[in-house]
Amino acid sequence: MGIQRILSGMRPTGKLHLGHYTGALENWVEQQNLLNEGGARAYETCFLIADYHNLTTSLETGEIYTHSLDMLIDWLAAGIDPEKSPLFRQSQVKEHAELFLIFSMLITSSRLERNPTLKEQVRDLNMESLTYGHLGYPVLQSADILLYKANVVPVGEDQIPHVEITREIARKFNNQYPHPILGEVFAEPAPKVTKFSRLVGLDGKAKMSKSLGNTILLSDSPEDILKKMRIAVTDTLKIRKNDPGHPEVCTVFSYHAKFTSPEQLSSLTEDCRAGHLGCVECKKLCATNIAMELAPLLERRRFYEVRLDMVTEILLEGEKKAKCIASNTMEQVRTAMKLGQSPLTHLGASPC
Ligand code: SF4
Repeated sequence: MGIQRILSGMRPTGKLHLGHYTGALENWVEQQNLLNEGGARAYETCFLIADYHNLTTSLETGEIYTHSLDMLIDWLAAGIDPEKSPLFRQSQVKEHAELFLIFSMLITSSRLERNPTLKEQVRDLNMESLTYGHLGYPVLQSADILLYKANVVPVGEDQIPHVEITREIARKFNNQYPHPILGEVFAEPAPKVTKFSRLVGLDGKAKMSKSLGNTILLSDSPEDILKKMRIAVTDTLKIRKNDPGHPEVCTVFSYHAKFTSPEQLSSLTEDCRAGHLGCVECKKLCATNIAMELAPLLERRRFYEVRLDMVTEILLEGEKKAKCIASNTMEQVRTAMKLGQSPLTHLGASPC
């Protein structure tokens, strides 16, 4: 088997926060740089700015471009290397929409209505009704994945149903339209369940979210981080420094667990429980540790912020590579479906 390809993406919501970093970006960088025993790359990685997906929950498009650039700068700052991983916008590779249309004929609406993730989203967002496009977003995701023939999809437990839909669509297509030469156009991608390290919000809510205003941004300065940390929820029973604390219920402690060294963490835990450490001091230490972790990211971010031409160039270059892969796949799809005139000489032959 050749090198495995991974496709991951995010909706362009602008500057990213610590939750994105620990929940996805760290993993992306690791997968991008992972080598196999022979010293070659273990995975070929592609990263998608899923701007069409934004439309499933908001029709506001005015800031999509600036949000895309802001997000891209955070990706680059975190260590995503455009030489290794094409970075591209979904809307700029038209084949996403084309494959989505074809795939939407291969799945029933009742199958999509049974999607448990969708049900949760409808409940969480208090939605009264769904658009046709929102119902079909797992189909668009399937097109995103299969367009690049990604064979590995890193997911959290809750996203496994989406990969299952992708696998079903791939099977259905292969059965319905065997390729005259390749046989099956799509390999069924395998979910790679990844333990994403989720961070709770500063207010102690289940997750960091810009809409909840409880985030630390990757672009925050050390001073911003300290200021935000001051409002972080701690153990409500620890009112004075001398009160014994319960780190297991403290938001700040959950950040320490991620950003503080094991030795410091263990003495801090003891001191909190024994009432030897006050929350003000503990928060300062936490803010310092987070700022230290983010310092190289912030430096790289500042580099790109003043070189927007370079960022745009990276995006255009990534889109060129993505289009090449996508158009090869669509050539195979159209040939298998006998849609239009697809000269067999072009079958997957163009190097990307
Ligand atoms: S001392 Fe630190 S770990 Fe303990 S409750 Fe206060 S902020 Fe949380």
